[in-house]
Amino acid sequence: MLRRMIDPFGRHISYLRISVTDRCDFRCVYCMAEHMTFLPKAEVLSLEEIERLAMAFVRNGVERLRITGGEPLVRRNVISLFEGLGSQIGRSNLKELTLTTNGSQLSRFARDLAAAGVKRINVSLDTRDPDRFKTITRWGDLGKVLDGIDAADAAGLKIKINTVALKDVNENEIEELMLWAHGRGFDFTLIETMPLGEIDGDRVEQYLPLSLVRARLAKNFHLEDTDYRTGGPARYVRVAETGGRLGFITPLTHNFCESCNRVRLTCTGQLYMCLGQDDNADLRAPLRASQDDAVLDKAIADAIARKPKGHDFIIDRQHRAPALARPMSLTGG
Ligand code: SAM
Ligand code: SF4
Repeated sequence: MLRRMIDPFGRHISYLRISVTDRCDFRCVYCMAEHMTFLPKAEVLSLEEIERLAMAFVRNGVERLRITGGEPLVRRNVISLFEGLGSQIGRSNLKELTLTTNGSQLSRFARDLAAAGVKRINVSLDTRDPDRFKTITRWGDLGKVLDGIDAADAAGLKIKINTVALKDVNENEIEELMLWAHGRGFDFTLIETMPLGEIDGDRVEQYLPLSLVRARLAKNFHLEDTDYRTGGPARYVRVAETGGRLGFITPLTHNFCESCNRVRLTCTGQLYMCLGQDDNADLRAPLRASQDDAVLDKAIADAIARKPKGHDFIIDRQHRAPALARPMSLTGG
């Protein structure tokens, strides 16, 4: 029998994002401070525990899983998790298994991911200029990421490029990035910076409203509204000149909470019912307390019953501190 999870506001919860590690081989300026303190390894769930938890969500009605981080592909043996979960596609509620990655390890893993049943991936790329890439990611190597994208393309993975729009940093490159992505047949999505986590820089300086970016693009391109959705929060237009899809994720200029269908699991087993709120439910204790699935199912149901209506992010001069101290790398993008 198919189960469904409905939250107190009538939203059907069908999408789980899982951060499999808070660690990363980059230090993007909007995401992490250069000297991050990571979780002690002992706190982190094993891959087997993550798989059991993920399948508990699937049993309760989740249809889409996205593996994220931190950088998911730096976690040792992570491919075994993809293989385990991928084998359940079509044999359970699970319809899709996807990944968000910075691309640094894709050359090694693209074929394994495709073989495990992953069909589409999001690759985060904020610039194609090597120096700017170093400035933004601090530790990243653009060449490796571009090779990784080529490997993913060659493995038959459908690619979406995600770009965080950063004032004065990549704002003049956005059009070019879109043309490149569409020229390669990739979807292209822009993201507004969100006030999550302590970083070294100043968020007011980084914040670029996408309403402005869209207005600029609309001067040179015909942006046609579409109702295309991927189950995520992006709203898409079709760019008439390129034939490609352009997405906007606008947590700040447009509140996307009404249609929220997702919850997020950290690598220590905390379930965040909203990216923009601190309330979370500990699923590690019930997971470890018993092999009885009923215990876990009840803990999940109790958490979903607490899902809040929405978030209240604001970035302005009065609110320089992060809305939440928790970084994006803990709950994943
Ligand atoms: N490391 C992987 C990557 O970069 O794709 C996966 C995790 S990363 C946290 C997921 C997404 O969140 C990336 O696209 C990243 O650009 C975005 N992100 C991180 N911090 C953000 C912030 N403060 N505001 C908006 N997007 C952010
Ligand atoms: Fe790492 Fe992704 Fe955060 Fe960049 S955005 S530091 S790649 S987790």
